[in-house]
Amino acid sequence: MKPRIRSPGFFLQDAHFTRSLVGPQRQHATSCPPSAQLSPASPVSRQWLRLTLVTITAAGVGGYIKWTQDAKAGSTTLNPVRFTSYELVSREPVSTTGSLFTIKPPKSDGSNLAIYEEAWNTGIWSVMFKQPQLQIGRDYTPLPPTSDTEGDVCLRFFIRKDPFGEVSRYLHSLKIGARIEVRGPRIECEIPLETETVIFVAGGTGIAPALQAGHTLLRRTNQVNKPRIHILWANRQRQDCVGGRNESTDAAAEVRPSWLSRIFGSKPDRSYALTKVGDTVESSLIVREIETLKAQYPEQVTVQYFVDEESSFIGKRSIWDCTKSAESSSSGKGNRNLILVSGPEGFIGYMAGPKIWAQGMELQGPLQGIIKELDLQNWAVWKL
Ligand SMILES: Cc1cc2nc3c(=O)[nH]c(=O)nc-3n(C[C@H](O)[C@H](O)[C@H](O)COP(=O)(O)OP(=O)(O)OC[C@H]3O[C@@H](n4cnc5c(N)ncnc54)[C@H](O)[C@@H]3O)c2cc1C
Repeated sequence: MKPRIRSPGFFLQDAHFTRSLVGPQRQHATSCPPSAQLSPASPVSRQWLRLTLVTITAAGVGGYIKWTQDAKAGSTTLNPVRFTSYELVSREPVSTTGSLFTIKPPKSDGSNLAIYEEAWNTGIWSVMFKQPQLQIGRDYTPLPPTSDTEGDVCLRFFIRKDPFGEVSRYLHSLKIGARIEVRGPRIECEIPLETETVIFVAGGTGIAPALQAGHTLLRRTNQVNKPRIHILWANRQRQDCVGGRNESTDAAAEVRPSWLSRIFGSKPDRSYALTKVGDTVESSLIVREIETLKAQYPEQVTVQYFVDEESSFIGKRSIWDCTKSAESSSSGKGNRNLILVSGPEGFIGYMAGPKIWAQGMELQGPLQGIIKELDLQNWAVWKL
């Protein structure tokens, strides 16, 4: 008989079984050559083989069950690699076009808080929601925790319903209690620690990252540092920002020197007195969030509302005014001022030029649009 080739892994077992076979082998020594002692044909080695196979199979089945259980259970903590299954807790309409979504992670043990906290400390961040039927994902921006939800494991989002959009339509169709697959966080823009002033030019749901910027920047307030944020928020309809009040007044617009009008051309930036202080209208949820931020950090937050249907648009003049106001109250040290632009593609393009795609990546592209025309010095510009 040919000698059997055995893997080293089996050798010790074979030696053990060989020892236990000494007695019977001797009985059949002449009719049974030594090599046959380990032959699968012998009853004892058949038993060994069965045992080995059972052990391997059991280990394999056990491993497979654990793997499928893990896969089913999924991740319980928000992470950028695997989707985590959150639960839709509530969806409140903000206007006819958008809603406030609140989602909860699978475990409420606080394991997510450190992850959120690191993102909040860094700057503007987003997460991706998956549409499971089509296997596509879209990015959404968590709203800052309010004083009521501080330390809460839930995340909140302001999501516009695009009647022809795949994921936003899917999200608006979900029932309360449904599962939403979420991956992240992804840092969209870091806000450097030394930043003194942020001017945030937001269009529509671009207000969500503006609120994030406010949260990150203003929580750095201390006795020495009093950073400031000025938000310019444009919406198509009044209902999207109902209750929003501008600090500036018509009078302020009127006292503008005539040389400014020459620089800025004839199109008026009428953001003024859309809703005057004292008007009694119920504010939209997002306006209430803005008011909360303002109340928390008095004199560090200003907001101007612009509404397309009321023919008020963010123009060069509004941005210019903000920069001049910021420069007059800043420390005078350069490179501490940031202009952030967020909103639909066309909005970003008009304000600061389009972002571009190269080598499979989205890049900032050159500064263009009305912000370039202002030729601002000492202002870094970032398109979101
Ligand atoms: C970093 C980041 C953060 C964001 N945060 C938010 C947020 O907080 N809230 C929010 O509401 N949005 C946010 N967005 C936008 C969001 O990711 C989605 O783009 C948005 O919800 C639309 O996705 P959708 O799948 O519903 O629409 P899509 O299916 O992508 O369609 C978008 C629009 O394009 C049109 N369209 C699609 N395909 C074609 C085609 N072939 N030809 C012509 N038109 C077409 C559709 O009709 C629709 O009007 C964010 C985006 C980014 C990048």
